[in-house]
Amino acid sequence: MEKKYLLAKMTWPEVEEILKETDIALVPIGAIEQHGPALPVDNDAHIATEFTLRVAESVWSKQKVVVTPTIAFGYSPHHMQFKGTITLSESTLANMIVDVCKSLEHHGFKKIIIINGHGGNSTAISNALHEMNGIVSAKIFSVDWWTIATDKIKEVATRPAFHACDMETSVAWYLDQRVLDDKRVDEPGRSIIPGFVEPDMLAPPPRASTAFMMKDISESGVVGYSTKATKEKGKQIADVVLERLEEFILKVAEV
Ligand SMILES: [Zn+2]
Repeated sequence: MEKKYLLAKMTWPEVEEILKETDIALVPIGAIEQHGPALPVDNDAHIATEFTLRVAESVWSKQKVVVTPTIAFGYSPHHMQFKGTITLSESTLANMIVDVCKSLEHHGFKKIIIINGHGGNSTAISNALHEMNGIVSAKIFSVDWWTIATDKIKEVATRPAFHACDMETSVAWYLDQRVLDDKRVDEPGRSIIPGFVEPDMLAPPPRASTAFMMKDISESGVVGYSTKATKEKGKQIADVVLERLEEFILKVAEV
């Protein structure tokens, strides 16, 4: 498959050329952090990259886009008790996002969509967006892949949906991640403050939050039931994510 939208594989005259046809850049952002014994540490970067490449492919005939290299490192200090995790400080990550967006804007990209694969990045992304607001003329958006498909996740995934769980393993598997099938584990994770601070992104209200280290709530690094994961569930969730990402890109294109 020829990936015509990869900025890193273009020469500068090719970038100049494609800017005559599109001003939309997609920026995948992930993390390098432990995902239990069955998934590699690049999981969030892998998922963000795959969703971005696949939506670029599907939307291309309707709307051309450019895909930048993935910002692979993210904000993961709470996973540092597990080997292989590499974290940026939050300010480094926010600054990196600002610098990437400013560079893209400098060349003429007017719409930038960050496609995020890691919940821990959300605050840094939000801070970066606020910092650029009113300073950078490009319109910049951010999408967490799980947030645009929460309804589907609720329907198909075993709770808790939190980390290296049924939902995440299913999606990763469908997106051609390396999954060590026989190393999958079920560990629901320990509640932090019952009813208020639960390791479950689908937990109902009342909700409160706190900072915690993953090892304090899970021995394996998994919070969820990864043995329940299937490629079929992953496809069901991924199809919704990709459909809505495409819809969003087309709406942004009209702005
Ligand atoms: Zn993850």
